[in-house]
Amino acid sequence: MADQFAVIGLGRFGLSIARSLFESGQEVLGVDVNEERVENAHPYVTHAIIADSTDEETLKSIGIRNFDTVIVAIGNDIQASILSVLMIKELGVKKVIAKALNKLHGQVLTKVGADWVVFPERDMGIRVAHQLLSPNVLNFIELSKDYSVEEIKIPEQMTDKTLRELDLRAKFNLSVIAIRHENDINISPSPDKIIDQGDVLVVIGENRDLERFANLQ
Ligand code: ATP
Repeated sequence: MADQFAVIGLGRFGLSIARSLFESGQEVLGVDVNEERVENAHPYVTHAIIADSTDEETLKSIGIRNFDTVIVAIGNDIQASILSVLMIKELGVKKVIAKALNKLHGQVLTKVGADWVVFPERDMGIRVAHQLLSPNVLNFIELSKDYSVEEIKIPEQMTDKTLRELDLRAKFNLSVIAIRHENDINISPSPDKIIDQGDVLVVIGENRDLERFANLQ
C-alpha cells in the first residue's frame, strides 16, 4: 500500500510538496485553517480539509496518528508550527518533517521531536549561489559538510577520452558513479567508456576537489 501523507499548511511550500507527492501517486491529505487555501488545493491532493493543527482534538479527529509522514509547512506562525509538531509527535506519528524560518526555530522544532527540519529559503539561496559560482554543476546533494555528489557538465577538452584516460581519481580525487546523457543514465560506467560531448558526470568527492574539477573550463 502507498504511504499516507498529510501536509499541514497549504502555502506555496506545503502545496508544492503535497502536489508532487500526489502526482507521484501517493495518498495526500492537505490541511489548512484558511478556507481559500483549502479550496485552491483541492485539485492537487486526495482530500483537503479546513482544520487548525494546534488543536489536539482536531488532530485526533482527523486520525493524524494513522499517517506515515506528516509535513508541517507552517512558517510565519512560529508558535503554531512548534505546537503542531509537538502534538503530532506525541500522538505517535513516526516521521514529522517541519519547515523552519530560521536557525532558532529549527532548533526548537528538533527539540520538540521533528525528525527532519527544512529551511526552504536558506537552502534555495545556497543552491542559487552555488549554481552562479559553478555554472557547470547542474545538481548536487550534500552528503556532509565537506563531501557531495554533483552532476557536472564535462569540459570540452575532456571529451572523446575514456574514463581511464581522464583518471579523475588520481587527478582530482573524485569517483565517477554514473554518466548521464540527456535522459539515459549509465550506472557504474566501465573505465573504457568514452566520454562524449554533452555528457554529464555524476561524481562523488570532497567539495574542494569537486570545485576544482567543475571550474576547469
Ligand atoms: P509559503 O511560504 O509556503 O507560501 P505562507 O507565506 O503562506 O507560506 P505561512 O505562515 O508559512 O505563510 O503559512 C503556510 C500555511 O499554513 C498558510 O496557508 C496558513 O493558513 C497555514 N496555517 C497557519 N497556521 C495553521 C494552523 N494552525 N493549522 C493549519 N494551517 C495553518
